[in-house]
Amino acid sequence: MILIYTENWDGKFKKLTYELVSYGSELAKQLNTNVVALSIGMVEDAELKTLGKYGASKVISINNDKLNTFDTQTYSTIISQIAERESANTIIIANNNIGKAISPRLSAKLKAGLVSGVENLPTSIAPFTVQKKVFTGKAYANIVIKSDIKILTLFQNSFGIIEADKDIEIENYNPADINLGTTVLETHKAGGKLLLGDAEIVVSGGRGMKTAENWKPIEELAELLGAGTACSRPVSDEGWRPHDEHVGQTGKIIAPNLYFAFGISGAIQHLGGVSSSKCIVAVNTDKDAPIFEAANYGLIGDARTILPEMIAAITKLKNS
Ligand SMILES: Cc1cc2nc3c(=O)[nH]c(=O)nc-3n(C[C@H](O)[C@H](O)[C@H](O)COP(=O)(O)OP(=O)(O)OC[C@H]3O[C@@H](n4cnc5c(N)ncnc54)[C@H](O)[C@@H]3O)c2cc1C
Repeated sequence: MILIYTENWDGKFKKLTYELVSYGSELAKQLNTNVVALSIGMVEDAELKTLGKYGASKVISINNDKLNTFDTQTYSTIISQIAERESANTIIIANNNIGKAISPRLSAKLKAGLVSGVENLPTSIAPFTVQKKVFTGKAYANIVIKSDIKILTLFQNSFGIIEADKDIEIENYNPADINLGTTVLETHKAGGKLLLGDAEIVVSGGRGMKTAENWKPIEELAELLGAGTACSRPVSDEGWRPHDEHVGQTGKIIAPNLYFAFGISGAIQHLGGVSSSKCIVAVNTDKDAPIFEAANYGLIGDARTILPEMIAAITKLKNS
């Protein structure tokens, strides 16, 4: 059985959840097994049922007030209990900060082999071999998992969503002992309308934007394209943008269809968070900036002049 750890935001499944279930059900065809999803948090039955559309045959729903806030240790314990109870042999989790916190703990608890950051189905089932990018996307590694239980974390926006339409059973489950390892003192909700990881287009700015005030056109372009906004680390360190927008090795790892980099040099630590984007468009005054090596399209010029021109051109196109 394949177990999917789902994620929701205010009771609605994140887009990545549908990607995980789609990936799981395509893998289930190869392994001749079924897909069970695990939902922790307050998610209505109608929403839980949507997972059937992507191939899950059962969803286990845990709705307990104590679990309203993510706690790595407790969540890992619960997921491992469910994995054992359901005899899961493959567990699929998102390759985001939550997945990165949970997966090593699960791996230790279940003595499971873990490969983080996969983008495609295994290249072979026996031996179970998966491919992943290494050296910030400069090479691929083929990794064989030999353990009975396998854990994969899947890059967001890498696999896509595939409709399967299965009848889905909902099982409500309440874990007997919940011993929270942490106490939440305060919660802070990210301000953006769109979750950065869910955004298909991301408009990002770096130190080349010079000041916080220069972010207006970045926000305007994002609004026009229905995109999320992101930034490089020095920008959030300076306080020009909130920390939850920082992408890269020490920030969020994203893989949108389209990533705009305005005034970003393309340091390896930045590319570590964005190099899986399907298309990168870079705008930089320096023709030798490393971002141009990673970019599919490059414009040499001042972001502060090019941004208003882009906004005007896209507005004209939309109105035509
Ligand atoms: C351990 C470690 C972890 C790190 N983690 C991260 C991380 O997660 N994410 C991250 O982003 N960084 C990270 N960094 C920092 C990283 O090394 C770079 O310093 C950082 O990415 C540079 O940010 P930047 O490109 O915005 O700024 P800069 O390197 O200062 O580049 C600014 C760019 O803007 C261009 N420019 C200037 N003016 C204009 C203009 N008017 N129009 C257009 N272009 C212009 C310049 O030519 C330049 O290329 C990390 C560093 C370390 C040591």
